[in-house]
Amino acid sequence: MTDVLITNGRVIDPANHIDEVCDVWVEDGKIAGVGKFEGEATHTIDATGLIVCPGLMDMHVHLREPGEEWKEDIESGSRAAVAGGITSICTMPNTEPCMDHAGIVMQVIARAKEVGLCNLHPIGAVSRKLEGRELSEMRELSRAGAVAFSDDGQPIWHAGVMRKALEYSSSFDFLIIQHAEEKQLTQGGAINEGWISTQLGVAGMPVEGEDCMIARDIMLTRLTKAHYHVAHISSKGAVEQVRAAQAEGLNVTTEAAPHHFALTEDEVLNFNADAKMSPPLRTESDRLAVIEGLRDGTISIIATDHAPHHEDDKRCGLSCAAFGIVGLETMLPIALDLERAGILSMSDLIAKMSCNPAKLLRLPEGTLSIGSAADICIFDANKQWVLDRAQLFSKGHNTPWHGRTMTGQVQYTLKHGRVVFEKGEIL
Ligand SMILES: [Zn+2]
Repeated sequence: MTDVLITNGRVIDPANHIDEVCDVWVEDGKIAGVGKFEGEATHTIDATGLIVCPGLMDMHVHLREPGEEWKEDIESGSRAAVAGGITSICTMPNTEPCMDHAGIVMQVIARAKEVGLCNLHPIGAVSRKLEGRELSEMRELSRAGAVAFSDDGQPIWHAGVMRKALEYSSSFDFLIIQHAEEKQLTQGGAINEGWISTQLGVAGMPVEGEDCMIARDIMLTRLTKAHYHVAHISSKGAVEQVRAAQAEGLNVTTEAAPHHFALTEDEVLNFNADAKMSPPLRTESDRLAVIEGLRDGTISIIATDHAPHHEDDKRCGLSCAAFGIVGLETMLPIALDLERAGILSMSDLIAKMSCNPAKLLRLPEGTLSIGSAADICIFDANKQWVLDRAQLFSKGHNTPWHGRTMTGQVQYTLKHGRVVFEKGEIL
């Protein structure tokens, strides 16, 4: 007798090179077997025609608790995550107060456990108050549970502080995540700089804003032998620099957000603030470079940069609207386009949203290995549905995909063997 039995699905577990139609069974909240099950189960899920994979991981999420709970809180964010098949999230430190203090890191972890829907791993602030001038107490933050460090939302702009952060992280084996933006080039900009920004009369952010910062950081990574991770890579030049750094043997990694490989700056032609984010949507040539980076492995991770905002912060004109879009509930269907287009195999695609980020952050999640926590995503890769922003579990309705047909839908999400999401409902 087993607790949960998932039968006859196409089981894809990239960490163990499994891609076959079989069963998965769960005992005491842990994976007990993958293969052909004989016997009885308390709860059976028929996964015929569905894909069964590890619960997804999103290593770039902004929840707004503490401080701006009207935009999102840990509960609504956790609900949005599991509705998107995501059972582990890493949250960025730009809360209010920010996560530059061990007490806040512990508070956020405790709150997520209380909600109990998904694993939450905080990313600590690199600098005090995210001001970029003085390092935070990174070791204390790490002991409190921070899994990596970033000032995301802001770049680690000060080269001297960045050097120290990388030196420190290389001694203690921390990962530094950079929001790569040279503010002196992007200040005042709202969208990608180019013919569209000129045509609309809206100030632009040049690709050089991203590329310059990455060039500087790669030099500092070479100097310090640290592990440097570029968040939400968006430009062709940035992808080329990361590829060259990897070829040189530097420990440089990167992630791409679905909007940067699915959309271009054309989305803002009608002044749509729900397509405004930082870094901005760029040109078709940048988009294709991000896709090539995903294909050849330069970009090993897909992460959403889920950034919920209240309507008031978005309905005030393109120039003054807040940066960011929600992403937890659309990551999987948008990412599946890469598999449908023949760019990535289903297994490689799932790896970028499960075992690859888990490995990078040295977390035990993202696999269906026997004995690991039974965090599982079961989805229909072909099911079509129309995204209605009013139906999102996130408090943020700021998505450029409102009204569009999505292909691929999560049917069940299990956390520690418990079904927490089933066919549109949080349980
Ligand atoms: Zn960022």
